[in-house]
Amino acid sequence: MAFEPVIGLEIHAQLNTKSKLFCRASTEFGEAPNQNVTPVSLGLPGALPVLNLETVRLAIMAGLALECDIQERSVFARKNYFYPDLPKGYQISQFEYPICLGGRVVLEDLGKTIHLTRIHMEEDAGKLNHEGADGIAGATGSSSDLNRAGVPLIEIVSEPEIRNAKEARAYMEKVHQILTFIGVCDGDLEKGSFRCDANISVRPVGQKEFGTRTEVKNLNSFRSIERAVNYEIERQISVIQSGGKIIQQTMNFDDATGQTSALRSKENAHDYRYFPDPDLKPLIVKKEQIEQVRSEMPDLPDVVRQRYTDQFGLPAHDVKVYLQTRMLYDFFELSREHLNSATPKDMSKWIVGELNALLKETMGELSMSPTVFATLIDRCATGDISTKMVKDILPKLLDGKSSVDDAISAMGGAQISNQDELQQVVNDVLKANPDVVEKIKNGKTGSANFLMGQVMKETKGRAKPDTVRDLIISACQSE
Ligand code: ADP
Ligand code: MG
Repeated sequence: MAFEPVIGLEIHAQLNTKSKLFCRASTEFGEAPNQNVTPVSLGLPGALPVLNLETVRLAIMAGLALECDIQERSVFARKNYFYPDLPKGYQISQFEYPICLGGRVVLEDLGKTIHLTRIHMEEDAGKLNHEGADGIAGATGSSSDLNRAGVPLIEIVSEPEIRNAKEARAYMEKVHQILTFIGVCDGDLEKGSFRCDANISVRPVGQKEFGTRTEVKNLNSFRSIERAVNYEIERQISVIQSGGKIIQQTMNFDDATGQTSALRSKENAHDYRYFPDPDLKPLIVKKEQIEQVRSEMPDLPDVVRQRYTDQFGLPAHDVKVYLQTRMLYDFFELSREHLNSATPKDMSKWIVGELNALLKETMGELSMSPTVFATLIDRCATGDISTKMVKDILPKLLDGKSSVDDAISAMGGAQISNQDELQQVVNDVLKANPDVVEKIKNGKTGSANFLMGQVMKETKGRAKPDTVRDLIISACQSE
């Protein structure tokens, strides 16, 4: 019998705020345990939550970017369960009335659109550290770290329209790209800022009703969602084929073994006894406020991709880098306005190549001004300096302290394109290498590279390569 997988994803994305959803505690990652807490995030009796309005703005941005209907009225609800990292005994979430309904994500490469059910806001729970497992020095037994408790999240719930692991991965990647590019989420998968639960079931091809699903929790890489979904589909099919039944349960995925295993039986919504949080008023967002956020929305990745391809003729690889690294995108946008001779495409090659590599190497911030960078690229386009010189100068400009002119003088001046000046150097080099000249005369024009290298050495890299090559070839031919 042939089976068809049915998959729906729940993505948890951390909103990019300085403080938590309902208190002033910092959201900074990596602090010592229980440093980023207040009575509210500790869940002390009598502490009252106060909504951080920035989280609402970011949630609306996410909703607009994912084409949802933003709700003018939404309600925070208590989701009750016991866990040692949840001191209040409930998590504040949204249930019946979430902030966004509907929405969709277009996967153009796969020719498919996945619709969203909803997006709701909620607070994250804390984290349990088990002795030995997390390397906390001196820890015995297990301890609860509440730094993460109360950190703002949105949960993006998809309709069960995904049909295979490739689509699941593409969907997760696309949502990640959109949210990080518009700055709603920092997208750091390793720090847990973006993670995904995959709901998976299979049904005989042709059957209308869905099969029983399992939910694989906390997938935190694109590779692991693909592997987990594939594994779980195969597992479910083989259980059914051998006469067994799928049990609705929550599963864990082990990256090391590539296998899923059962964590606990899955709760249903009624087990959580959701009810509106009496400490929080319904969240009312006015139409004008939604329109205000809409008017301030940055361009979305699809718009940028289209513009960069059509208007500037940028290669797909360049576009991909910009969509992944907002800093480089912003730098390209600011710099290209100052270009005179070079094209945006010329400039992009340098940003995506050399500059990107330098920044990765130094892990540095980009202090160079866009005007300085544009001047550098322009000077290369006019032939004032060679590409080799750009390469040498660029690292010296990164700290934002030197000007292009200073850097060029420090290298001994601009490129030498003056024929007479270069002719002298070429003559000397030819005289010193008669054997190479002989080779070129015999048709081995490739050997001219060696002589060019010598001229570059003599001129400290300032000779204009095209001119030097012409001079060498014509000298060898005329002799
Ligand atoms: P919960 O919060 O209890 O996990 P929801 O009913 O809101 O549950 O569903 C969560 C996700 O599960 C959604 O993305 C939905 O599309 C998906 N889903 C629901 N039923 C199935 C099913 N039978 N097979 C696969 N996915 C499903
Ligand atoms: Mg769920």
